[in-house]
Amino acid sequence: MIIRPSTAVDVELFSSREIEMDLGIRGKRAIVCAASKGLGRGCAVALAEAGVELIINSRTRETLERTADEIRKTYDVDVTPVASDISTEEGRAAVLESAGAPDILVNNAGGPPPGMWNDWTRDDFITALDANMLSAIDMMTRCLPGMMERKWGRVVNITSQSVKAPIPVLGLSNAARTGLTGYVAGTSRQVAGSGVTINNLLPGIHATDRAVSLDTDVAVAKGISVDEAKAERCATIPVGRYGTTAEFGAACAFLCSMHAGFIVGQNILLDGGAVVSTI
Ligand code: NAP
Repeated sequence: MIIRPSTAVDVELFSSREIEMDLGIRGKRAIVCAASKGLGRGCAVALAEAGVELIINSRTRETLERTADEIRKTYDVDVTPVASDISTEEGRAAVLESAGAPDILVNNAGGPPPGMWNDWTRDDFITALDANMLSAIDMMTRCLPGMMERKWGRVVNITSQSVKAPIPVLGLSNAARTGLTGYVAGTSRQVAGSGVTINNLLPGIHATDRAVSLDTDVAVAKGISVDEAKAERCATIPVGRYGTTAEFGAACAFLCSMHAGFIVGQNILLDGGAVVSTI
């Protein structure tokens, strides 16, 4: 992993030096779900940079194949794109069939729509649970036995800061991700003795299409521009900006590294300090 200075202060401190850290996972095999864009792509790129072979997934074939080509060309690793909906049984089966025996699993899917507490039907909840809780649990159920048998594995679930501090308009997301978090809290302790770690990464606001979509909703609701909505949001983040997919990917790659074998069942917030809590 190359650690690059990301802010003006970093540049001053490190005099624009790049610091290289060997993650010790070159040649491992990773599934990264929902990875053609955004945070999933950030994780795939960081793992590729560490020399990991990838099976990447998302629904839109064209974008996915373009991402696979770019990663392959830049990092010279095998990248297998599997275009499928990870929230469906068939979609997961297609990914697992291409993956063979994965060492690393990054679970991710698109986030549910915003709304008010009384907007949603039972079917809306089932759709959100399928995407943001049950698909990740199913992928773990199928990948963990092989990892445990081989005595090494890493699972990272992309959840949300809403697990620590609920976002009122994201009731579907709050509910589904908290369910996944409870599952991981127990399961991670059951599998840790076999050399397999499971942890969750909790993104605060990051500069992706999802952020643009949420900012657009706020802009429409408040009658302001998208830039104004973004500026309002930045003002709530101590770092004063949105996170980048590269920063997110670097955290994911570290959790998947040889160095992270003692990190078990944790919920790691990447939010620029936005959630105010002591622990
Ligand atoms: P994004 O930029 O919109 O990218 C979403 C990626 O997931 C795309 O590659 C998309 O490709 C793929 N995808 C969506 N649904 C899928 C499905 N059912 N099966 C397979 N692939 C699917 O979103 P993001 O910002 O990276 O967010 C990723 C996750 O983190 C979401 O659950 C989001 O709610 C959560 N999150 C994001 C933020 C943030 O600030 N960005 C903050 C908190 C939580 P296709 O559409 O082609 O399938």
